[in-house]
Amino acid sequence: MSTAIISDIHANIEALEAVLADIASRGISDIMCLGDIVGYGPSPNECIDLIHRNCKTVLMGNHDAAALDSLFTQNFNINAKIAIEWTSRVLTQESKSFLANLPMSHVVNNATFVHATPYEPRMWYYITSIEEAAFNFQFFSSQYCFVGHTHIPVIISMSSEHMIEVSQETTVSLLQPEGRRFLINVGSVGQPRDRNPLSSYGIVDYEAGTFELRRVAYDIEKCQRKMQAANFPEFLVARLSEGR
Ligand code: ZN
Repeated sequence: MSTAIISDIHANIEALEAVLADIASRGISDIMCLGDIVGYGPSPNECIDLIHRNCKTVLMGNHDAAALDSLFTQNFNINAKIAIEWTSRVLTQESKSFLANLPMSHVVNNATFVHATPYEPRMWYYITSIEEAAFNFQFFSSQYCFVGHTHIPVIISMSSEHMIEVSQETTVSLLQPEGRRFLINVGSVGQPRDRNPLSSYGIVDYEAGTFELRRVAYDIEKCQRKMQAANFPEFLVARLSEGR
């Protein structure tokens, strides 16, 4: 059985619908969401509703936490802050209570799932270097760890001799060579930042022993028009078509 892993939807319903359609076309019904359902985008309640109905497990992201409590916006830049304040205002009570009950991490099938880092998930640290990745391998005991948060998809592995490798492929074998462990960032559904504006997500097949990063096209302009109608900062609107 395969599991689809999605993260960082950021209230982009156009992107989320396109990714869910792609997942359904692959015959996959087991979907895991690594958080940041809201923030930056114009459709937070719609995204929460769709995630609630389609995902078996949903984790808390830093923007989800910030939408509930402005204390968590301290490290946000001005654009993120404007968007999260707007989000807090439009979230329904039902949406807020859904977000408030999300767990920080989940472990199943020899895999650990977390929004930011396995080391101190509540601190919302970023993994942006080989050193930070190597450090984080110490903080999960499963063979696989799936994260989001940076919005940049990447497959990092560590051999039994503790050699780190960053894969150049989008599909990798999880079985060979034996003893290899993986730290995989599935990228972002609603705001990719690797200079590729297509939505990013991952599919893991534990039985076949494969992981695949997928990219999906969606109606970017439709999302941007909604953002402009809600007077979102132009930077946030423009970045979607540039994937940054
Ligand atoms: Zn995010």
